Order: sequence, then structure tokens, then C-alpha cells
Amino acid sequence: MVTTAAAAGTMKVAQVSGPGSDFQIVEREIPKPALGQVRIKVQACGVCHSDALTKEGTWPGIQYPRVPGHEVAGVIEELGDGVSVWEVGQRVGVGWHGGQDGTCLSCRRGDFRNCQHLKISGISYDGGYQQYMVAPVEALAAIPEGLTDVEAAPLLCAGITTFNALRHSGALPGDLVAVQGVGGLGHLGIQFANKSGYKVAAVGRGPENATLAKKLGASLYIDSKATNAAEELQKLGGAQVILATAPSSKAMSELIDGLGPNGKLLVVGADFDPIEVTPIQLITGSRTIQGWSSGTPVDAEDTLRFAELTGVRPMIETYPLEKAAEAYARMISGDAQFRVVLTM
Ligand SMILES: [Zn+2]
Ligand SMILES: [Zn+2]
Repeated sequence: MVTTAAAAGTMKVAQVSGPGSDFQIVEREIPKPALGQVRIKVQACGVCHSDALTKEGTWPGIQYPRVPGHEVAGVIEELGDGVSVWEVGQRVGVGWHGGQDGTCLSCRRGDFRNCQHLKISGISYDGGYQQYMVAPVEALAAIPEGLTDVEAAPLLCAGITTFNALRHSGALPGDLVAVQGVGGLGHLGIQFANKSGYKVAAVGRGPENATLAKKLGASLYIDSKATNAAEELQKLGGAQVILATAPSSKAMSELIDGLGPNGKLLVVGADFDPIEVTPIQLITGSRTIQGWSSGTPVDAEDTLRFAELTGVRPMIETYPLEKAAEAYARMISGDAQFRVVLTM
């Protein structure tokens, strides 16, 4: 629903005019979809920590003004030329994966997730902090009926990142999986891990989130401030996987000794500091450290369907588009419970 009427043919947009500048709410022409693109009437867009890359200009080569947003849920309103499999009126989402080139070595191997010229919505082109958005068909994920727009939006980045990482982690049902961090990513990671049949240990700093973590499906909660979390995990035989969601390299480093034989530290929380690990820590027990980023739009569809099927839902705080600056500040503060979502 449009909360503030825009003049006919124009729309409201929350844009960043340059690196580090404040959000501006401006009116722009409603864009036309070009060849191979669709225009989406945006209904909701999640505010992700990675939107800071656009806001602060820390991603190389961004052209401004730029509209952030890669957790977009909406309805197709117009098809560009050459678009055949998508229909006007269809509910779709756009996540981090904003389109592959189809020609690089990774794409030729079918590994679109690691496309060397991957387009990212809200970075390579304008994202979802606006009433209407144009997106290439390679970026579209169908949204199932059982999810609302505000529920689907955060699943298109935070959701897919945790779900896709877990399902490719090699952990089997019944295995001990630790989820480090009970926040924007972690609160979804706990739910996905629980619904995937793992025994889930949530690891957080301080006792605050213990009750919530158990409600979300954790079998146990480890307070890494009060105890040595790695030792606690070893008492349980060691974790097969530790899904590291909180962007703290120090906290991740401290957990490596909590891995069991052949255990894997799976890094999805983005930090710029180095993780500290000795070769001995990795050699003993044949442990590995792996990073994981997001997934393709089909992975997003799998995520959405799994969430629909199992009841995994993001916890959200919503803000109208006009309050994009406030919504972004709330997300950056780290106090949101847990995903901030803009509604149009
Ligand atoms: Zn994101
Ligand atoms: Zn490619």
C-alpha cells in the first residue's frame, strides 16, 4: 500500500547521494523495464547490515545517487521485452544475487552464486528502498502464498544466507550444530537449524537471549561471557558445525576449539578483522573453516518454501519508506529485534 501519494507517473525513493551522505526522500519517474527486465511494485524491503556498503560507499565502484535494498518483496507490474516465464501480478522477491553475466568461468560451470561479475541489487543498480524497482529476470524469486511480504523480505538475504549455508554444511540430522549470535542472522539460523533436525546450541554474549533462543528451537543456550563456550561444546562431543553469524572475528576465533572431529566453522557474519587460528587447531580433528555468501534466486525460493513449510519466520520491526533514515539507524544500532523492514 502506498502511504504517501506521489504525483502520477512518479514515485518516492529513499536514495543515498554519495558515500556517507544521509538518506534523501525524493520523487523520481517510475522506471520502465528494459529487455529482460520486469518492473516490481515494491511492497516491503528489509534493511540489511550490508546496506552500509552502499550508504558508506565501502563497496568499490558504486555510482551515486543509489537506492539501497536487497531484501525486496513485491508484485510484478510490467514485463520488459523478451520476458516469458514471469507474469504480471506474480509475487516476487529480489535478494543479494541481482543477476549473473552468464559468460564468466564460474557461470560456464553453472556456479552462478560465484559469478565473477555478479550484480548486486542496491549496489550495482537501484534496490528496494523505493516504491517501484526494475530488476533483471535472473534476480527474481517467486514468493509462496503462505508468506506475507514483510515476512518474505528478510528471508531473501538473512534467511537464504543461514539456510543455504546450513543445508550445504554436511551436518546430518541429529548432529550438534552451534549457532553463534542471536541477532538478525542468528535468530533465523537457530530456527532453520532446529527445523533441519539438528541439535542446536545457541551461543550468545550475556544471558539476555537465553529464553528467546530456546523458544526459537535451541536445545541449549551457552553464555560465552559467563562460560568458555568452546569447552561447553566439547562436553557435548564437539559441534559438527558452528554457524558464525555475529560479525565478530574474536568471538569466532574463541569458538574454533568447540568443533568436534571433522567439524566446520561456517562463517556468514561479515567482519573485516582476521580470524585467529593455529594450524594445530585445524590439523587436530581435521577441522575446516568455510565462508558462505547468500545464494541464487532458486536457492531463495527453496528458502522461502522451507520457511513456509516449517513455520520459520523472521522477527521484524517495520518502518514506512519515508522513515528510511530512522529504520537504517535502528538496524545499525544493533538493538532491533531483529530485522528492520520498510513498507511502501
Ligand atoms: Zn543482506
Ligand atoms: Zn558469471
